[in-house]
This record gives sequence, C-alpha cells and structure tokens, in this order.
Amino acid sequence: MNRILRRGLMLGMVAGWAFASQASAADKLRLLIIDGQNNHAWQAMTPPMKADLEKSGRFTVDVATTPPKNAGKSEWAKFHPDFSKYDVVLSNYNGEPWPAEVEKALETYVANGGGLAVIHAANNAFEKWPAWNKMIGLGWRQASFGDRVTVNEEGKVVRTPKGEGPGSSHGPQHAFKIVVRNPDHPITQGMPTEWMHAKDELYHGQRGPAENMEILATAYSAKEKSGTGTNEPMIWIIPYGKGRVFTTVMGHVSANDTTAIRCNGFKTVMLRGAEWAATGKVSIPIPDDFPTADQVSVGKPK
Ligand code: ZN
Repeated sequence: MNRILRRGLMLGMVAGWAFASQASAADKLRLLIIDGQNNHAWQAMTPPMKADLEKSGRFTVDVATTPPKNAGKSEWAKFHPDFSKYDVVLSNYNGEPWPAEVEKALETYVANGGGLAVIHAANNAFEKWPAWNKMIGLGWRQASFGDRVTVNEEGKVVRTPKGEGPGSSHGPQHAFKIVVRNPDHPITQGMPTEWMHAKDELYHGQRGPAENMEILATAYSAKEKSGTGTNEPMIWIIPYGKGRVFTTVMGHVSANDTTAIRCNGFKTVMLRGAEWAATGKVSIPIPDDFPTADQVSVGKPK
C-alpha cells in the first residue's frame, strides 16, 4: 500500500471515529426535569432521579427550578423554559400555577410531538388547567372533579362517574405488587407480569377526564391498608396531539426516606416511560436486579 493511500485511510478512520462519537452524543435524548415546589422533598428527589436518567446512557438532563411559593411576578417572569429544546419534560412539580404563557408553551410543545413524564405528586398539580388535566388523564382530585378508572378482577377497565365512590387518597405506606396489564407495550414489554414495588404510597381514587387513557399497570389497593378493595392504576399513557404523556403515581419521597425511587422497578419504569414519551419506542433494557413477584429490589442511597 502506498504512503498516500495509507494516510488517506487513516484520516478516514479518524474522521469516522469522530463522526461515530458525535452521533452517539446526538442520539441521547434531551430531558428537562421541572421542580421547585412540591409537598414532597423535591430537593431529595431530583438529584437521584437525574443521576439514574444520566446513568442509563440514554439521556442528557437539565433541571429548571421554579421560584418558591409566594414569589413575586418578577421572579416568575424569569421562569420560561424553552421546552422545544427537549425531547421530553419530566415533572417533579406540585405547586402554584405557572404563568399562563408557560402553561400554553407546555401544551403547544406536547401537542407538537413533545414527551411529558409525570411522577407521583406531579399529578396533584394544576387542578384548574384544563389541558394539563387532559394530558395526565387522572389527578389527585375530589370525587366530584371527574371520573375514576379502575380494573376489575377479570382485568376489565371500570369507569366510575364523577361524584360516585372515593376521591383521591392513600393508606399507610407499604410494599405492594404491581400487575402489568399490557405486556406488549414498549414500556412494560419484558417485565415480569407481577413484581413487588418497594414501600410507597398506593394512590387510589384518582379523578379526571381520562380520555384516550391506557392503563399499563395496576396495584391492588387492600381495604386492610385503608384502600379501596380494587385495582388502582399505577402506570398509564395518553396521546396528546402529536405528543405522548406517561404517568406513574409511584415515587413518594420524604427528606429522610427515598426508598420508593430507589426501587429498581420504579427506576426502570421512569427510564422507559421517559424514553417512550420522547420517542414512542424503548431501548432501555429490564435490568437483572429488577424485582420479582415476591421480592422487592432496592438500590443503595446515592
Ligand atoms: Zn407522596
């Protein structure tokens, strides 16, 4: 091989390598976490979730933090995230309404094909924001707010009209079994059909418009745990315009207890849910340490 040809090949290899590494950086999904107000310890929740998202190798993560409660208009004027820069927005926010233009910007972003991931108390927020209620389908609301959706013993979806049955609540925290209702959806594909979620709040009586909602997994809300005696939705999805919304009501965190989000089942659901909301597909695998039907699996605190 002559020298010039060899040199050309080497340059080509270097260029190819540079292109490949650029391509892998570009392949990462851009995710924005929103926090800043919550009746939960959001400061103890965002960093480990961000670390897990980044560790998956699938996401780059930014955080947008709102002003604290009772901040003035000038503080809120500084909160205007550019959602269009992201493939998916993950809400860890449960607080005051956002400025109208920020709400409108999120609606437009999702309607145009953006992804939205809603974790635990994030679905308690924004009761008076109609598009938000459509996006999340069910939220932490009074019974009079909207319909309730559960799954009966035969696996059929049951709709209870507004005003009938319980509103939103939960009993004491405990470990409980997650039952996958659609094993063919990209988020749940390959998961054990039943797996033990680590100690968490088991939300029941969620209410809302619940239009075009598909329940991917439920948990049995036992009466002896101050529950409802039926299967409550734990993971669900909703199309919104060209976009996709993923919600899980798992993930209760207090300042001194992050067990629920250290559950390797929760982590996998969050990662795959966020990836699906961003792309409509899932490539993140089910890890070897995923919980089983009778055994919780919880990672160490970070
Ligand atoms: Zn909670």
